[in-house]
Amino acid sequence: MYDFIMNTYSRFPLVLEKGEGCYVWDNKGKKYLDFMAGIAVNTLGHGHKKLTYAISDQAKRLIHVSNFYWTKPLIDLGDKLVSHSDFDQAFFCNSGAEAVEGAMKLARKYASKNHPGRYEIIAMKNSFHGRTFGALTATGQDKYKKGLDPLVPGIMQADFNDFGSLLNLASEKTCAVLLEPVQGEGGIRPADEEYLKKVRQFCDEHDIMLIFDEVQCGVGRTGHFFAYEHYNICPDAVAMAKGLAGGVPIGAVLAKEKFSSAFGPGDHASTFGGNPLATAAANVVVDELFHGGVLENVQRVSAYLLKKLEALKDKFPTIIDVRGVGLLMGAEFKEPVAAIVDKCLENGLLIINAGANILRFVPPLIVNETEIDEGFEILEESLI
Ligand SMILES: *Cc1c(COP(=O)(O)O)cnc(C)c1O
Repeated sequence: MYDFIMNTYSRFPLVLEKGEGCYVWDNKGKKYLDFMAGIAVNTLGHGHKKLTYAISDQAKRLIHVSNFYWTKPLIDLGDKLVSHSDFDQAFFCNSGAEAVEGAMKLARKYASKNHPGRYEIIAMKNSFHGRTFGALTATGQDKYKKGLDPLVPGIMQADFNDFGSLLNLASEKTCAVLLEPVQGEGGIRPADEEYLKKVRQFCDEHDIMLIFDEVQCGVGRTGHFFAYEHYNICPDAVAMAKGLAGGVPIGAVLAKEKFSSAFGPGDHASTFGGNPLATAAANVVVDELFHGGVLENVQRVSAYLLKKLEALKDKFPTIIDVRGVGLLMGAEFKEPVAAIVDKCLENGLLIINAGANILRFVPPLIVNETEIDEGFEILEESLI
């Protein structure tokens, strides 16, 4: 539609103009229910009062200073994330790919100091970790890698949820294991708890850094702030981004001190990372999740969403599986869902796929049962 923008997305032919709660409007005044939330980003929906106030208030004070200085929103956010987690230190950046890069760099840095000769990182098939060279190399889907060789050496993929496959790839050179506790882009595939326990134990035995990529499944999506809490297994580091600042670009790496202390001044950096605007926004998101009832809302509404999905599957034999955790759910169809996505858009529902045949449900975490009902009415109408 607009040729001066590089053609990297097959964009839908609409121009969005404003939003409120779980709804957005286009420039022709048409209203849409938003079940994709900017791909699991708009945690608190659109136009959230406290979030927009915090952003505009912070913008009036300071939008950016260098990381050579402290700011209060940065201090507050780091303190909150560390005190609500099993981690000791945070590093802030601007995106999911950068958070994954940061975690992988930390793993290599730790290994270089404690286990010289170790540098290999085992990621998973079917995973998604972002588009920068390191994160892309870790991503276990060939379709994203075409025409970009050579990629980063020393990164490989095991079969997800298959401990034997991990053991086959592991060696004296392994410094880290990287996985999404719930694979998002790869089709909404949750890990098995038993598998994660074995991975955790294996990493402990060999002092291998276990990294969870919670860019999509973290920040309350599972009904817990961190996805690892859903599994009762704590990684050594976690990569976060997407929903953390409710739509303002942010990324974070949280890690245990044993590992994070491998970074010293100058070892890693990001000009914008943790700037006061982004961290002011993230502080509101974190507060709303822990103290505003949002996590409880996810737990309640996700049970309702799953029931609706199961009922839909019973009604439409073209749906072969429904799965997921919290408000990160998928419905797998026998055929590609692109036509359904288009039909939903026409009928006033924003929704996306996760892999060709899987419809992804990642609404804002403030969604209620009435809105779920409305979304399913539009969806059913679009399936017939
Ligand atoms: C989206 C995503 C990323 C990449 O995040 P960007 O902000 O697009 O760089 C990384 N990991 C997972 C699991 C994601 O879903």
